[in-house]
Amino acid sequence: MTDVIIVGAGPAGMSAAIYALRSGKTVTVLEGETIGGQMSNSPRIENFPTVKASSGSDLADKMFEQMTDLGAELELDRVVEVVKRGEGDFLVKCEYNDYEAKAVIWATGAKHRHIGVQGEEELIGKGVSYCALCDGAFFTGEDVVMIGDANTALSYTMFLSNCCKHVYICTLFDRFFGEKAMVDQVLARENVSYEHCLELQRFLTDDQGSLKGLVFKNTKDGSERRYDVKGCFIAVGQVPNNDAIKSLVDLDKGGYVLAGEDTITKTAGLFVAGDCRSKRIRQVTTACADGSVAAIAATSYIDALK
Ligand SMILES: Cc1cc2nc3c(=O)[nH]c(=O)nc-3n(C[C@H](O)[C@H](O)[C@H](O)COP(=O)(O)OP(=O)(O)OC[C@H]3O[C@@H](n4cnc5c(N)ncnc54)[C@H](O)[C@@H]3O)c2cc1C
Repeated sequence: MTDVIIVGAGPAGMSAAIYALRSGKTVTVLEGETIGGQMSNSPRIENFPTVKASSGSDLADKMFEQMTDLGAELELDRVVEVVKRGEGDFLVKCEYNDYEAKAVIWATGAKHRHIGVQGEEELIGKGVSYCALCDGAFFTGEDVVMIGDANTALSYTMFLSNCCKHVYICTLFDRFFGEKAMVDQVLARENVSYEHCLELQRFLTDDQGSLKGLVFKNTKDGSERRYDVKGCFIAVGQVPNNDAIKSLVDLDKGGYVLAGEDTITKTAGLFVAGDCRSKRIRQVTTACADGSVAAIAATSYIDALK
């Protein structure tokens, strides 16, 4: 049995692994998708102390190397359920295998929210994307629409403006909600423009079922606004990945796990770290902080077991 199973290899999970390993515990990290989590979608991170500027994936590589050098075991397997069988005895059920541990640190972050307009799911990979870094290059030299008003949308716009002809940012409300420095940086780009108060009404498709345009309603005057583009990037918030532990924790209205800065949940031995926890600021630094606190809490829990 592993001492600590950490679910999620984002900054929270990898920081937790580093702290738990340095406390002398054995650690298995279970990752369902991408090492590095969300930050691996960020073209440029400038607010992680000691790293002036780095791509998110470079930062993730460094964390991953540090964690594996210390002895972390990594399994690429998605967790579907966590069961507590007794004190210091957890069964973690995954798509491919089951794993056992004395304590579990849940660090599964969040995923992209979909807008919910008809046709959206069918158009994923046919013009609609939630990841500029993954799909931006497919639209090199073309016009694209970016839907969203906060830091992720701004960060994506910055990346897209390097390869696309023009990026049209469409926001639902009458302002941006991202950091001012980022808004200024993005809007200074010549091939970026924006329009506020636009609510997406429908996607337009061609004969092959691929995107050929978007129709919005201007919420101020009710007029229709059409963009003829083959690429649309969406960054309208996130949904936490907490389904697999929902019977063991309390969730807030948004589905985030209710836990304080101590990362302790209502199930002894289960700790929650990073963006999947109910909190105000979701950043790499706060995820790392949560991960380290959770690892120390898990270590204390294990040491206190009879
Ligand atoms: C485009 C973009 C740009 C950003 N830019 C910045 C920035 O400049 N500075 C900054 O500080 N922050 C930035 N952020 C935010 C930052 O990336 C997040 O706050 C941070 O990654 C959260 O870390 P986390 O470890 O809590 O979760 P995540 O990074 O979301 O990692 C969670 C991991 O858990 C995995 N997982 C989920 N469910 C399961 C499951 N059931 N089983 C196994 N694995 C699972 C996921 O695949 C993922 O790898 C950005 C985010 C995005 C999307």
